[in-house]
Order: sequence, then C-alpha cells, then structure tokens
Amino acid sequence: MIAVKLSKLRPLEKKLLKAAESALKNAYNPYTRTTVGAAVLSKEGKIFKGSSFANQSSGSNVCAERAAVLNANTNGFRKIEKLAIFENDSVKGGEPAMPCGICLQFLEELPKISGKDLEIITSNDSKTRIFKTKLSELLPFPYNGSNGKKAKR
Ligand SMILES: [Zn+2]
Repeated sequence: MIAVKLSKLRPLEKKLLKAAESALKNAYNPYTRTTVGAAVLSKEGKIFKGSSFANQSSGSNVCAERAAVLNANTNGFRKIEKLAIFENDSVKGGEPAMPCGICLQFLEELPKISGKDLEIITSNDSKTRIFKTKLSELLPFPYNGSNGKKAKR
C-alpha cells in the first residue's frame, strides 16, 4: 500500500474517486456517523457508484463497495478492475477507510471474473490522505471453502 497525492493520480483514477465522492452524498446511516461512497471501474471503462446503506441490525448493513459492485452487475458489467472508496472521516481523524472483512471476501470474486487483481484507491474526505493498494495485498489468503478446487461451471 502506498500513500499518494491527489495530483499524482491518473485522470481516470481521479474520475473514479470523484464518482465515489458523489456516491457518499447518498449514503444512509441514521445510527452512526460512518458513511461511505464507492465507485468501480469496469474493463469496458464504465463507472458504477454505490452508497453505504445502514440498518438498525448492523449485520444487515450493505457497504458502499458491495453496493457499487452490485450496481455494475445489475447493469451487466462484471469485469471490475478498479475500486475507489470515499468516506466521511469525521469519526476516524482523517484516515481513509479500508474495506471491511466481509467486503474483502466479497471482492475476491472479481479477480476470478476479470483475470486481474483489483486495484483499490481510498481517500479521506479532504483528499489529504489517499492510499493505493490491491486486493491481493489486503486479503492475501482468501477463504477457499473447497480446498482450492474450483467448481465446474
Ligand atoms: Zn464492507
């Protein structure tokens, strides 16, 4: 994982982060102050946004990362290559949000579909702290319930 300046992001990465920032505006959470926006970039160059959606039973929360992937899937795009995350960071003192464990395992499907590691950009809401990383770095040993054997499709 590396820290980068906003000015060092490529134009498409800035566009993706901007989309995640706009998704934050529609995040729903009347229970805590954590709200997150995310955006994914498909192989075809399409961007899909997702906003976090909290629930009184927190186990039912849907994170912005999963919402963005499901938005892409609903629109027929599943080869996701990049993910941007943008959090209201008033709670965490300015550090960018990292995907939760449930999202990491969920996102683990994407490299199987796209054939590429998922690039992740995450920023605090003032864009003064931005990290670039990859899914394989955040989840080096994903769950593989079938002892690594792939199901026949
Ligand atoms: Zn999550």
